[in-house]
Amino acid sequence: MADVILKGSREKSLTRHHPWVFSGAVDTVRGKPGRGETVDILSPDGRWLARGAYSPESQIRVRVWTFDPEEEVSAGFFGLRLSRSIESRRAIGIEQAADAFRLVNSESDGLPGLIVDRYDRFLVCQFLTAGAERWKDAVVSWLERLTACTGIYERSDADVRAKEGLPPSVGRLSGEEPPEVIEIHEHGCRYLVDVRHGHKTGFYLDQRDNRACLARYASGRDVLNCFSYTGGFSIAALKGGASHAVNVDSSGSALGLAARNVLINGFDPGSVENIEADVFTLLRRFRDSRRSFDLIVLDPPKFAESKGQIMRASRGYKDINLLALKILKPGGILFTFSCSGLIERDLFQKIVSDAALDAGREASIIHWLTQSSDHPVSLNFPEASYLKGLVCLVK
Ligand code: SAH
Repeated sequence: MADVILKGSREKSLTRHHPWVFSGAVDTVRGKPGRGETVDILSPDGRWLARGAYSPESQIRVRVWTFDPEEEVSAGFFGLRLSRSIESRRAIGIEQAADAFRLVNSESDGLPGLIVDRYDRFLVCQFLTAGAERWKDAVVSWLERLTACTGIYERSDADVRAKEGLPPSVGRLSGEEPPEVIEIHEHGCRYLVDVRHGHKTGFYLDQRDNRACLARYASGRDVLNCFSYTGGFSIAALKGGASHAVNVDSSGSALGLAARNVLINGFDPGSVENIEADVFTLLRRFRDSRRSFDLIVLDPPKFAESKGQIMRASRGYKDINLLALKILKPGGILFTFSCSGLIERDLFQKIVSDAALDAGREASIIHWLTQSSDHPVSLNFPEASYLKGLVCLVK
């Protein structure tokens, strides 16, 4: 096995069990590890620190599989980690709430680069790093054994693969091919998910708890769901008794599924309006035509992909929050989110408070929201926390 020897003073994060070694922390590499190969990580004075997967092309040069010197990284290792992850989802009781949830959340489940989402009887996987890619066969064969799934499908088409020098990889890995759409159930609602072409692995599972929260405030309200994707928040709102919902998204295919979701839940098709538009433009149009709503959801895509984009992203968040606050009726509720990991919670709250000031509205936070419990955040890996939301009651 090859060794990666760190520079002096660069071992601190590993002693705190943070699972990443950046290229700048590496002093020497002994041996010639290939892409995804297992390496030992040593301190400058030769002490064993951890064992991980080598990514020759990434800034994150090694991702730790284990901090236990006795633990070998073999097919059996993946069996143990996967069983532990699957067991932890039982421990949080997620199956009582839904038949679609995240079974494996990468670093936070001790499996850097691996995402496994369950959609009813199908599993959808992403192998996002060189290490995860290398152990794909072992992971698939353990998932077949440990779950009662009908089929396993791969959606390793996320941009981050390029940073690892890996091409996109999509298709059936095992068992049956998934159908055109999979019907999932969550808190008494039904949703159709296109795991082949949908965003991420098909659905925003991370918003499950927040959809449930929104349902509690929806009764009798006229809802505007911005960046709606397939209308998840609107279905939850109608279930909670909303009088009407408007979905806005730039993706026509997402809105097509949103319309089907209304029907399969038995709601009146007239209770939902689907608008294919740019949210920034449409909010201005609603402001100018004085159209207002009782409850507005803002759940935009990631605006900040890198530190250099934080300022621009902040202006984007401020803009949509300002416009939404202007068209909320008195007594209205704003559910506002940011999924940019680089925008910290305090900054996001400041942006929303600036927007309220500029909109001339008084508002109070009634909930601080985050990603659902099947997307856990390891205490040693705070980077896994990316989704933040505020529920504001607006005077
Ligand atoms: N709220 C959704 C997830 C939103 S993801 C849910 O809970 O399922 C972000 C969505 O914003 C995507 O569906 C994308 O198509 C859409 N989008 C991105 N930029 C947009 C824009 N400028 N105007 C409208 N929609 C946009």
